[in-house]
Amino acid sequence: MNSLLAPTAGALSLPDWDDVASVLRAGVGPETRITREESLGSRTTMGVGGSARVLAEPANVADLRAVVRGAAAAGVPLLPIGRGSNLVVPDDGVDAVVVAFSHAAWSAFSPQADGRIRAGAGLRLKSLCGQAVKAGLQGFEFLEGIPGSVGGSLRMNAGAMGGWIWDVTDEAEVLRADGEVVLLPRAAMGVDYRQCRGLEGAIALGALLRPAAQAEGDAIGRQIDVYRRKRQESQPKERSAGCVFRNPPGGAAGRLIDEAGLKGAREGDAQVSTVHANFIINLGAARAADVFALMRRIRATVRERSGVLLEPEVLCFGRRWEDFL
Ligand SMILES: Cc1cc2nc3c(=O)[nH]c(=O)nc-3n(C[C@H](O)[C@H](O)[C@H](O)COP(=O)(O)OP(=O)(O)OC[C@H]3O[C@@H](n4cnc5c(N)ncnc54)[C@H](O)[C@@H]3O)c2cc1C
Repeated sequence: MNSLLAPTAGALSLPDWDDVASVLRAGVGPETRITREESLGSRTTMGVGGSARVLAEPANVADLRAVVRGAAAAGVPLLPIGRGSNLVVPDDGVDAVVVAFSHAAWSAFSPQADGRIRAGAGLRLKSLCGQAVKAGLQGFEFLEGIPGSVGGSLRMNAGAMGGWIWDVTDEAEVLRADGEVVLLPRAAMGVDYRQCRGLEGAIALGALLRPAAQAEGDAIGRQIDVYRRKRQESQPKERSAGCVFRNPPGGAAGRLIDEAGLKGAREGDAQVSTVHANFIINLGAARAADVFALMRRIRATVRERSGVLLEPEVLCFGRRWEDFL
């Protein structure tokens, strides 16, 4: 399971999710939303999958801490979600308290006296790039077009055009499973290709980002336009979760899928993009089961043809890939 804050003790075999929601509601202020069975699929870029048994949208750190502690006391798992752009949610949803950073309080972009930027976990990368242009801050352009939030991108070590988000991140503000908030330097975060071990059992509240330099907003904007055009030419426009499989050592997953003749292959309304073979797109009414079936077919066909077993880069939210692949 990915990024799960596991229950501390005494996990209930069949939690009463109404009770869990009531207990959590009692511990937070009026601005924090706690809801039952809200759709998660509609909170993802792929647009498939079921609902969260409980969804929490905390309005501040104190309420988030109360939710984390409340879920642990109830013996139920807790799982953060960002913009849902690297996830496939199973059709039967997620047996967890899912925490979303949708409240405006998490979208801060705050220049600090030392020249760094404090970015909130819920800040969209698109907004980060836009505000950096306005402030004349160079160094974040490569993030343009990655449809994630700061929190999810730190967890995934999102990257493009030769840069990774942790290249421009000095420190992350982290809420640990025990409810403590700590400021951790990059060196303590176990950062690697598409992973950040330090966030596997913790929640990023925000980060201190370091701009490369001060520059003319127009010049930064022009570089962003170059990256945007590159993306438009090489990626499908339909709903997706980005690259589905990790690139194997020395190779490209997309090329292997293309060479296996799978561009355009379909299961239900899930289709291998004809623009970029490592994207699975939702033609409109895809279910998670269609996406999983297509992933199984891709893996089997590529393995047969080239001997490479592709590993997923996207995450199966709240579950293990072994349950479906
Ligand atoms: C069209 C498209 C293009 C893409 N291009 C790229 C690309 O160029 N490069 C790239 O790297 N990725 C790319 N992606 C994938 C995706 O956008 C990134 O992985 C992004 O960083 C995910 O951020 P998110 O906020 O959507 O996280 P989510 O998908 O919501 O979550 C991802 C993981 O982060 C965890 N998480 C979320 N918030 C927090 C938090 N606050 N604290 C701790 N953990 C958290 C979740 O539990 C989950 O495990 C693309 C996706 C799409 C759809």
